[in-house]
Amino acid sequence: MNLTTAPRGTFDLMPQQALVWQWMESSIRAVLLSYGYGEIRTPIFEHTELFQRGIGETTDIVEKEMYTLTDKGGRSLTLRPEGTASVVRAYIQHKLYGQSPVTKLFYIGPMFRQERPQAGRFRQFHQFGVEMIGEESPVADAEVILLAHDLYCQLGLTELEIHLNTVGCPQCRQEYKAALTSALAAVAEQLCSTCRLRLVRNPLRLLDCKSPVCQEVISRVPSIHNYLCTDCHHHFDQVTTLLEQVGVKYKLSPKLVRGLDYYTRTVFEIINTDLGAQNALCGGGRYDGLVAECGGPAVPGVGFASGIERLYTTLEQNGKLPEFACGPQLYILPLGEELAVVAFEIATDLRRQGFSVEMGNGTKSLKAQMKAAHKSGAGFVLIIGEEEWRERQVTLKIMADGSQKRLPASGLMEEITKLVSPRGPQVPLREE
Ligand code: AMP
Repeated sequence: MNLTTAPRGTFDLMPQQALVWQWMESSIRAVLLSYGYGEIRTPIFEHTELFQRGIGETTDIVEKEMYTLTDKGGRSLTLRPEGTASVVRAYIQHKLYGQSPVTKLFYIGPMFRQERPQAGRFRQFHQFGVEMIGEESPVADAEVILLAHDLYCQLGLTELEIHLNTVGCPQCRQEYKAALTSALAAVAEQLCSTCRLRLVRNPLRLLDCKSPVCQEVISRVPSIHNYLCTDCHHHFDQVTTLLEQVGVKYKLSPKLVRGLDYYTRTVFEIINTDLGAQNALCGGGRYDGLVAECGGPAVPGVGFASGIERLYTTLEQNGKLPEFACGPQLYILPLGEELAVVAFEIATDLRRQGFSVEMGNGTKSLKAQMKAAHKSGAGFVLIIGEEEWRERQVTLKIMADGSQKRLPASGLMEEITKLVSPRGPQVPLREE
């Protein structure tokens, strides 16, 4: 084991990247709040059974990918592999159904799956997602799809494809599963070993197998659209009409089933074609049976989850990531150790006013300290020299043009506030 390398499938975010992530997260939050979603923060781990029940025993996530541990009390706990089951659990636990007919929640945070790491696929990754619980109308499906689409557009993405399908309700799906199983049973030996198992345990999952041989076989099986009941048919028609109404293009993908068992009716993915093999930015759909399955009332739900790493990559590839200055705004440079005390006081006052400030310790020459100030990336340098300080004055150097001016220390805060806005929260100044 290499103790100086992060575990496989995980990564560190360094300060410069963390600033970009903060920007992504705050942009996402702003859009979701504007659509009327409230943020929910659920625990990173839950009882294992929640995911087994919620996501489905025969899904890849539950069968192969969960990080499960037994705690000292003998309880089985699992690091959350996705967000919906936890939100639904919280919805039931806090009886949100009693507060209003429709609940709109969003989450943002890390998820954990023991998958084979590759580009766009990590073991600790980050998702944001929305859940609209309590609304059965197809308007909700269309709204959720549009929200994901508009959010990406607001961040500057344009090359997006919405892939849309329906997986019907448990009734019509049952019929379709039977038709699918009998169509595939005859050609089972042509399928990959995973799909031969799926054929017995979860035939619908076969439809999105990536193996070219299976794809060829699957291209000949009947479509679920021929098996939809009248209500499911009508629901899907309404969703597509609504999207067309607002001019949003989508592609019908009759083989899109998604990897989680809880979906009913509408399922969708938004793809960015630049991303390569792992090109889904987000995926979601309707889950009308999930709340009841997890022990709550029979209320419908619809939502999506979006990967933040993939969003980052897409924004980066499209030149849509803003650049942020990482260094301090001001660098204070005392000429001599005694003046370091003065510099420390000034730095403290400025920091308490929300400015980001670094300082030299006064032991090095002006030249050496100036080099450090340059390296820090600060836009302004305050030089505190012996002679100036005798008159309680300092020199302010503006790095952009190299100009400098002498200022009385008493008017410093006012002068700096004119030049630059504080980055952080303000703490009341010390009492004199
Ligand atoms: P899912 O929860 O599997 O429906 O995935 C929803 C979205 O989360 C995907 O479209 C990806 O953007 C992202 N995602 C899922 N699994 C991973 C992973 N292992 N690494 C990075 N992103 C992921």
